[in-house]
Amino acid sequence: MGYLFGPVLSRRLGLSMGVDLLKYKTCNLDCVYCELGRTACLTSCRDRFVPRQKVIKEIELKRAEPFDHLTFAGSGEPTLSIDLGEIVAQAKKIVDSPVAVITNSTLLSSPSVRKEVSAADVVLPSLDAAGENAFRDINRPASGLKAADMIAGLKDFRKEFSGEIWLEVMLVRGINDKEAEAIARAAESTEPDRIQLNTVVRTPAEPVEPLSEEEMRRMLEIFPGAELIPDWDWSVPKRVRDRLMQLLNSRECTLEEISLDQDLETGDVIKYCKILEKDGLIARRLLGGKLLFHAVDGFADDASRE
Ligand code: SF4
Repeated sequence: MGYLFGPVLSRRLGLSMGVDLLKYKTCNLDCVYCELGRTACLTSCRDRFVPRQKVIKEIELKRAEPFDHLTFAGSGEPTLSIDLGEIVAQAKKIVDSPVAVITNSTLLSSPSVRKEVSAADVVLPSLDAAGENAFRDINRPASGLKAADMIAGLKDFRKEFSGEIWLEVMLVRGINDKEAEAIARAAESTEPDRIQLNTVVRTPAEPVEPLSEEEMRRMLEIFPGAELIPDWDWSVPKRVRDRLMQLLNSRECTLEEISLDQDLETGDVIKYCKILEKDGLIARRLLGGKLLFHAVDGFADDASRE
């Protein structure tokens, strides 16, 4: 055990069961904003990092757990694993939920990598630069990688892949925000289904700065039709917190039940549960194939009645 993690609460993917095919932290980029810290192993060589059969076995063991996506992500760049295609293909046969791959897009210039990634249902690639200078400054690539190849790979991937592509663009103050128009043109040229704009909201590898909420809203004029995904307000309003705690003190609920009962968007429920869980006010348990959330105190009462 130890290759799957979660399910984590993800604003983009809902309840996301992660699959990690790498050793911490293996990547062909060393992005200044990376929330995993500096890249320990900067390499573009594909390799086997974990035992394939053990990963597949673990996916089989977790198949009955509730999750919205089985997501290949984790300790670096998933396409560096030579087993990615085989494991994604096997996973598709094992789980009912859609399979997602998060990638930094660099290896999509390779036809064989594109074929492997195409086995997924949803692919979430990144594109933070249109030119080589910004690519070097924000992504600090392993030698030999070029922004132009990455963009060409994304275009080729679009032609070959009929599933959903949700392209993420990370904007960092003073590094790539000045070439936002060029990035927008490059992003549109790759014809993704969605463009999702992000900025630095989690602890980055380097002391880089995010764009403000107002600046990000202005970016929507440069990236028409894009969505904003960062969450500047990482808090639960008191009124919502009180109502949620009251509900979860009285009974255990799934995310959907909380959403219906409280008339809240699923994305907000995910955010609030993440915060309350981190604060130790609510906890989760798996029961009858459902992921249930409960107030920590309320659950003690329920447990004593069972
Ligand atoms: S590609 Fe992803 S894992 Fe690699 S350094 Fe950038 S943010 Fe971190």
